[in-house]
Amino acid sequence: MSTETVNEAVDLLAHLIRNQCVNDGTPDSGFESRSADVLAQYLGDSGLDLQRFSARPGRDNLVARIEGSDPTAPTLLYMGHTDVVPVNPDGWRRDPFAGELVDGELWGRGAVDMLNLTATMAVAFRKLAKSGFKPRGTLVYLAVADEENLGTWGAEYLLESERDAVMADFVVTEAGGFQMPNAEGPRLPVIVGEKGSYWCRIAVHGTPGHASQPFRTDNALVTAAEIVRRLAEYRPPTVIHDTWERFIKGVDFGEEWNAKLTDAETLTEFCEELPIGLARQAHACTHTTFAPTIIHGGTKTNVIPDLVNVEVDIRTLPGQRASDVRKMLDDALGDLAAHVDVTPFDENESTSSEIDSALWASMERVSKGIVENASLVPFLTVGATDARFFRRAGSVAYGYGLFSRKLSFDDYASMFHGNDERIDTESLDLSTQLWEALARDLLE
Ligand SMILES: [Zn+2]
Repeated sequence: MSTETVNEAVDLLAHLIRNQCVNDGTPDSGFESRSADVLAQYLGDSGLDLQRFSARPGRDNLVARIEGSDPTAPTLLYMGHTDVVPVNPDGWRRDPFAGELVDGELWGRGAVDMLNLTATMAVAFRKLAKSGFKPRGTLVYLAVADEENLGTWGAEYLLESERDAVMADFVVTEAGGFQMPNAEGPRLPVIVGEKGSYWCRIAVHGTPGHASQPFRTDNALVTAAEIVRRLAEYRPPTVIHDTWERFIKGVDFGEEWNAKLTDAETLTEFCEELPIGLARQAHACTHTTFAPTIIHGGTKTNVIPDLVNVEVDIRTLPGQRASDVRKMLDDALGDLAAHVDVTPFDENESTSSEIDSALWASMERVSKGIVENASLVPFLTVGATDARFFRRAGSVAYGYGLFSRKLSFDDYASMFHGNDERIDTESLDLSTQLWEALARDLLE
């Protein structure tokens, strides 16, 4: 791979980082149009048709397309989001939005989630277009807005309103391909599914009164504290599902670890001993999780509050439905379940794609060509990505990418939405190679 291509990826990624498309969840944040502009300008000289779609001013999505010659051949979509999550610069060793290249690492919010892939997908796409790539199948590039919130102005809107422009048989988006060491060669996780979410508000009721005489009062805040405690202590059942089992066996952590990591009886206990990043992943991949994140209540220091709202981020496993979640909530809250109202405000069932697909086979082939002795292992991501909209629409969608050996799984996991997010240039090089080779392998 030429240094020119790497430099292009570095430049483009630095641009996207500096654009600060911070999505704080409000409709007027993000302003991804700035990065759509940068990408349109970058791709503009390749002779490609570019389309822009916007459901809201400032929140443009950009689509580029290399039309295939055979309408029966598959369509492959490379989808990268352009927004990032907010930062607290106090926790960073460098300016999170300067996009500085230091000792071969590019620093900034979005460097691993996922502007690195958005940028390298664009670099490979432009290179293919300029080389006169005329595949049988169709290649589509999508720079999508609003992934970091709910996809309302991005993937969800596009599939509802501009389906022909973005729909594809195969979709690749964030993220996977970090190298997990194995005696027979690195194992590269591919995200084949993701957990669902059930975000809810628990209204805790009490009886108002004068706070100067709290004895035997029905204080909603005190009840809410007990509810938060019970949620934190709740131990949901361990579920060893097929994707998890195949991941553990594929990576091969050694006989003892393999056994402990796939035993529903001992896994939770074993997680206490694992390094923190791995422990959190292992736990979240095999459990429904309950994280109380927001509490609102009370009106005045001298008034016993009669209403407190607790918001809980619940993440569900494949196959679980709202009714399963409600049963677990009842279980967790015990006798207090009868004293609260639970209102879900975002319900999103877990999605997954089959492992046995032409896309998988193609990714396996090209990955072996780039990373010596590599093989793929399926993985379930605990967060949500835009892949879910495409899976529901009928696409096979995977999260993939390639990363250098310098990036450990633990580092990778802790940089997601975390401090000191950065990517090494070798990883950018590997991903760019991947996107180019995969399009050729699958579509030509
Ligand atoms: Zn992301």
